[in-house]
Amino acid sequence: MNVIIIGAGIMGTTLATLAKELAPELDVTILERLDRAGAGNSWVFNNAGTGHEANCELNYTPVDEEVISVEKALKIHAQFNIAKQFWAHLVEKGAIKDPKSFINRTKHCTIVSESSIEELRLRFKEMSAHHFFENMQFSEDFDEIKSWIPYLMEERPRHEKMAATVIETGTDVNFGALTEQMAAHAVQELGVKIEYGTHVKRVHRSPTGRWLIEAEQNGTEIQHRADVLFVGAGGGAFPLLKKSHLPFRSRFTGFPVGGRFLQAPISAEQAEQYRAKTYGKAAVGAPPMSVPHLDLRVADGQHYLLFGPFASFKPVLEKGRGFFDYLKSMRLHDIPGLLNVALEHFPLVKYLVSETFKGEKSMFEELERFAPGMSKKFNWKAIEAGQRVQIIKDGDLQMGTEILVSSDKTYGTLLGASPGASVSPEVMLRCLEQLLPSIFTKDEAQEKRKEIFPEDDLDTLINNPERYRAIRDSANSKLGIGQPATP
Ligand SMILES: Cc1cc2nc3c(=O)[nH]c(=O)nc-3n(C[C@H](O)[C@H](O)[C@H](O)COP(=O)(O)OP(=O)(O)OC[C@H]3O[C@@H](n4cnc5c(N)ncnc54)[C@H](O)[C@@H]3O)c2cc1C
Repeated sequence: MNVIIIGAGIMGTTLATLAKELAPELDVTILERLDRAGAGNSWVFNNAGTGHEANCELNYTPVDEEVISVEKALKIHAQFNIAKQFWAHLVEKGAIKDPKSFINRTKHCTIVSESSIEELRLRFKEMSAHHFFENMQFSEDFDEIKSWIPYLMEERPRHEKMAATVIETGTDVNFGALTEQMAAHAVQELGVKIEYGTHVKRVHRSPTGRWLIEAEQNGTEIQHRADVLFVGAGGGAFPLLKKSHLPFRSRFTGFPVGGRFLQAPISAEQAEQYRAKTYGKAAVGAPPMSVPHLDLRVADGQHYLLFGPFASFKPVLEKGRGFFDYLKSMRLHDIPGLLNVALEHFPLVKYLVSETFKGEKSMFEELERFAPGMSKKFNWKAIEAGQRVQIIKDGDLQMGTEILVSSDKTYGTLLGASPGASVSPEVMLRCLEQLLPSIFTKDEAQEKRKEIFPEDDLDTLINNPERYRAIRDSANSKLGIGQPATP
């Protein structure tokens, strides 16, 4: 059976790797528009590199009339645990030589001002009662917060009331470096083929029932045929779905959101002082993906601070592609859905449009409000972030991701943006279960699955503290993130 995957981002590359590990007899080819793997949204500075495990993101624990919901946070934390099991397996079998090349231990903090202190206290109370977050600490004490994240407090007036939480065991992940190493391993050791510089223009059924893939490769038109097709093309998945003639294609439209970061290079010594990712609270009307945060990042052994993202309205499918591509992906039936979102989410649209015209001066002002004194300390510059294309489904805007699989299980695709790369192994495992259920019936595949994922049941991780701790500690130790970071 031959499987074609469109897109060598973290999703497509993870799916290819998992498929070949579980079923080596499959013939797997990835078609990628760019000239290397992991160069789209997965690339290091196109995203914020937070290993999302719900340690610090307030939008994963919504509060409604003083009742907090932690279900989403528990699910994301368990999914990230499954991701770490997969990455630890890659390290253990030598596919990734040095885990520090993609994952580094970093504190995960949340900081809020007076109006949100009660919300943070409630979040701490609920979350720290669960074994996932048992090491979370909360403080309203100026000096204690300063001892966790000095650079956020040093130049803040002492009378400003703040509260913060900290978890020492968070991570910064370079998803681009991870994807590149995984792709090299998939090609060299597992027999996956990757064709770079191949832009897929259209996919449709051939009269024989197989998928016909029409692409342009270095200026030449080429075709591929596939028994099973997975489209993991980020925002580029929308136009391909529209042309697929699948019955559910008209239910989905893309809602693009662009973004920028402020970035500053720092030295290795300074990095020790800034070893944290600190999340704040999104402004009223702002989308969850624009929660301000200040992050230590590690890329190719160099250290950086990153602040943002500053979301904006940018009607393109992917960074580097034009408005015309987005326009061509639209159909007449998409217009009512877009208008509905514009009306129902007017504050969001207004926010995105106003952010689009924000100059660097206002970006620095926001950094100063978040971390007084920081804008003058380093040589910051504004950089363009990756492009998120959120899902409009049946006229409703959704912030998460969705896996779609055709009823005959020959076409699968991933739409949407969040929480994304952090949970990619778990999401791709579920996708494989739906798309290629036959491979899981073999004993060899079951054994391999246990070897890669000693525990991939979300409910067990959520409800069995002993099992969770054992799995977590083993994965952390293989990934070199088991011991406390040097102070
Ligand atoms: C600003 C921002 C911040 C983020 N922060 C985080 C974070 O902190 N933590 C986290 O876990 N996630 C984060 N994410 C999300 C994360 O970046 C994505 O979930 C992840 O990179 C998606 O991987 P992917 O493989 O689906 O997409 P991509 O990495 O974009 O890969 C898709 C690939 O498909 C290719 N492609 C597209 N169309 C075609 C075509 N027609 N033919 C051939 N190839 C095609 C592209 O070139 C690309 O290489 C963030 C995203 C953004 C934008």
